[in-house]
Amino acid sequence: MPTHTITHVTLHSVALPYVEPLRTSFGVEADKAAVLVELTLDHNVTGWGECAVEIRPGYGAETVFTALHMLNNFLIPKLVGQPLTSPQDAAALLRSVREHHHTKSGLEAAVWDAWAKAEGKRLTDLFAEHVTPPAESRGCARVGVSIGIQPTLEATLGIIRKRLEQGYNRIKLKIAPGWDVALARAVRAEYPEIDLMLDANSAYTLADAAHLRQLDDYRLMMIEQPLGYNDIYEHAALQAQLRTPICLDESVKSVSDLHLALELDACRILNLKPPRVGGFTASLAIYEVCVREGVPLWIGGLLETGVGRAANLAFAALPGVTLPCDISATDRYFAPDIVEPPFTINADSTITVPDGSGIGVEVQPDRLEAAKAHWRSIVPYVEA
Ligand code: MG
Repeated sequence: MPTHTITHVTLHSVALPYVEPLRTSFGVEADKAAVLVELTLDHNVTGWGECAVEIRPGYGAETVFTALHMLNNFLIPKLVGQPLTSPQDAAALLRSVREHHHTKSGLEAAVWDAWAKAEGKRLTDLFAEHVTPPAESRGCARVGVSIGIQPTLEATLGIIRKRLEQGYNRIKLKIAPGWDVALARAVRAEYPEIDLMLDANSAYTLADAAHLRQLDDYRLMMIEQPLGYNDIYEHAALQAQLRTPICLDESVKSVSDLHLALELDACRILNLKPPRVGGFTASLAIYEVCVREGVPLWIGGLLETGVGRAANLAFAALPGVTLPCDISATDRYFAPDIVEPPFTINADSTITVPDGSGIGVEVQPDRLEAAKAHWRSIVPYVEA
C-alpha cells in the first residue's frame, strides 16, 4: 500500500463575480468567494481543493474568515507530516475537530486530488475504487440547472426556455413564500413534460403544509428542503401529507442523519453536497447507504469555482448517482473561471469528466491572482 506525506499547504482566498447576481431565499449575491487549498504531497505532487464557504453566513455557517482560522490553526497542523496510507486517512485525522464541514471538505479534497495525481489516475476512478463494492465511473454526469428567484413569471419562463435551448433537460427553480404555487402552475402550463423540481432552502414551516400540498398537482420530481435547515422530524410529518417526494439537502450532514431521515420517511431523495457532510470520505459512506437502500441520489452544488466543480463532477460520475446533478457549465456562473478547460454541456444534458489525472483541470496562475485581488477589493465591504 503506497504511503504519502503532505509536506506543504498554501491557502488562497478568492472571489469571482457571478455572470448574473443570484437571488435565493437568502438574498442576492454578486460575487462567489472561496478558500482554495493548494496542497503538496511528497514534495512534488500538487493537489487542489475548494472550501465552499461564503462571504457571509447563508446556506451554511462557515465563511472565508472562519475557514482561514480553522485551517491555519487547527486543521492543517493535523495533516502536515503525517504518513497517509489512503486519502481516507486525512478525514480520520480531521475527525477530532467537530463541525466545520465545508472547510474540512476543501482540505480533504486537495488530498484526494493529489493522491489521484500521484497515482496517475482520474479522481473519478479513485473514488470508484474506494466504494464498496468497487464500481466503474461512467466518465460523465447527468446534469440540470438551477434558476434563482426572478422578478416575474414571464422572466422565469424566458430563462427556462434559454436553459432548455442550451441543453439542460432538468430544471430546478428556487422558491419562497409568495413565489411557489403560481410559479409551478405557470411553468407546467408552458412546459407540461420537462423534468421540474423546486428548492425552498428551508423557507417554509409545517404550518404551510396545506399550502405546499397544492404543489402535488404539478408532477414535480421533488420538493427540496422545504422546512428547517436542521430539521428531520417535521419533514417526516410533511411528507405524510404530500405525494411529491421530499428531497433533503441542508438537514443531512452525516450518515447518521441520513439513517434517521430514511427511518422516519423524511427523505425520499437525497441531494448530497460533499462539503455539507465534511468531504468525500463521508460522501462515499453516504453513497453506499443510498445504493444499498435504493435511495435516489444526486449531487448538489454550492456554485463552486472550477476546482470544486471538477471534484463534484468526478463524484457525480459514480454509477449510484441516479438523478441529474446541479453541476452546470462554467459559463452559467463565471466568465472566466480560474481553471482550464471550462466545463461545457453535451447535447444529452451531461458533462464529461476531463481526461487528465486528478480533477483534470488546471488552475490558471493569472486568473488566480486576479481572483485574490478581487477578494481583497471586496473585504472592506464584507467587514462593513
Ligand atoms: Mg438545496
